[in-house]
Amino acid sequence: KLGRTLPVKGRHRKTVIVHANSNVRRNPNIAKLQAGYLFPEINRIKMKHLEENPDAKIISLGIGDTTEPIPQPITKAMAAAAENLGTLDGYAQYGGYGAEQGQTLLREKLAERFYAEVNIQASDIFVSDGSKCDISRLQMMFGSNRRVAVQDPSYPAYVDSSVMIGNTEMYDHASKQYGKIVYLACSSENDFFPNLGLAKDAELIFFCSPNNPTGAAATRDQLIELVRHAKETGSIIIYDAAYAIYISNPNCPKTIFEIPGADECCIETCSFSKYAGFTGLRLGWTVVPDKLKFADGSLVKNDWNRLMCTSFNGASNIAQAGGMACLSDEGMNAMSELVSFYKENATILKNTFEEMGYAVYGGTDAPYVWVSFDGRDSWEVFTEVLTKCDIVVTPGSGFGPAGDGFIRCSAFGHRENILEAAQRLKESFSRS
Ligand code: PLP
Repeated sequence: KLGRTLPVKGRHRKTVIVHANSNVRRNPNIAKLQAGYLFPEINRIKMKHLEENPDAKIISLGIGDTTEPIPQPITKAMAAAAENLGTLDGYAQYGGYGAEQGQTLLREKLAERFYAEVNIQASDIFVSDGSKCDISRLQMMFGSNRRVAVQDPSYPAYVDSSVMIGNTEMYDHASKQYGKIVYLACSSENDFFPNLGLAKDAELIFFCSPNNPTGAAATRDQLIELVRHAKETGSIIIYDAAYAIYISNPNCPKTIFEIPGADECCIETCSFSKYAGFTGLRLGWTVVPDKLKFADGSLVKNDWNRLMCTSFNGASNIAQAGGMACLSDEGMNAMSELVSFYKENATILKNTFEEMGYAVYGGTDAPYVWVSFDGRDSWEVFTEVLTKCDIVVTPGSGFGPAGDGFIRCSAFGHRENILEAAQRLKESFSRS
């Protein structure tokens, strides 16, 4: 019998009939998660707004999805790779299952392009279907009951994947935090670099630079402090460099491995998603250096390799051909143009809010502009922006409790939409 009668606690005790069709207990960790994952939730609200206002010309500065086409030299290489799979020889060379760690040539090219000046070899680089997937697989590798610290605010996948794997206690509605996670507040008051003293017991620290959502890029000195902290406490930093290519400030490293000693305490994950518009194509990589060891002296890299071989069958060979093309001279130039375009969008948004009298952060080394609404509830601001301007932004509190009072505007958009959004915002939100 699969139906159940459950007592409901509270003042008015009553029973509800639960209609189940299996006897399988829900994963109690997944049951701890609050509402939906942030971005599907925003999409749901956007669709509802459209239903109620069918003529609304919605502009999305919300999810942070790329909008510009993948540059031609890259798409051409992928088209050729796809054609090649239709030939006997081509299939023999690149068809079928590839290496779980990625094609050797691509790993070598990644090492040459992004890690030539640091102590990282091609064999430390594991190609994947993207950083978000690797973040969850890293959780799987470390397993449950870890003490995790995250920047607050931060990319929601760190917290949600920590909850799912069993690294947290229940959600506390008062603090808006999950028990056991250490939330490291980052704000203009601490130059968006947290008090690491709060994380002295953390085993794993998720650190994202340039940061999503605040747009802050950590300086060399800050990263030296981060690495020193990890070495002193014996923790491992999971460094998310998904936006490293957006850094212009020469004082901000583009990889954590520029910091001496980082190869003994850091894993770095990165992605072609925001470099070349691969969000839907899916290609990324994670660096697990040879020197990084667990407490028992075994290599973290060996476990990562084992995990990838078990849970992943290698990135799409067509996507990898695209990755190779990104790393050619022509591809590097094309990526840099694409990134410059989005950065100009960021400048437009940043200037717009500044001219309107708001305190604005980010937007110079990242495609995100972080706007303060002086402590106002950020879902309320989100709703007001949607209702008055037909613009979707992201409420800061969706990235953690310290994000409340802010909205995040993404610079991923067609230029005419960014300009139109700037105009609409000026009409409804100017303070002067
Ligand atoms: N890391 C950060 C900080 C991100 O903002 C995102 C995507 O928005 C990702 C990782 C996910 O990247 P991917 O598309 O490679 O899964």
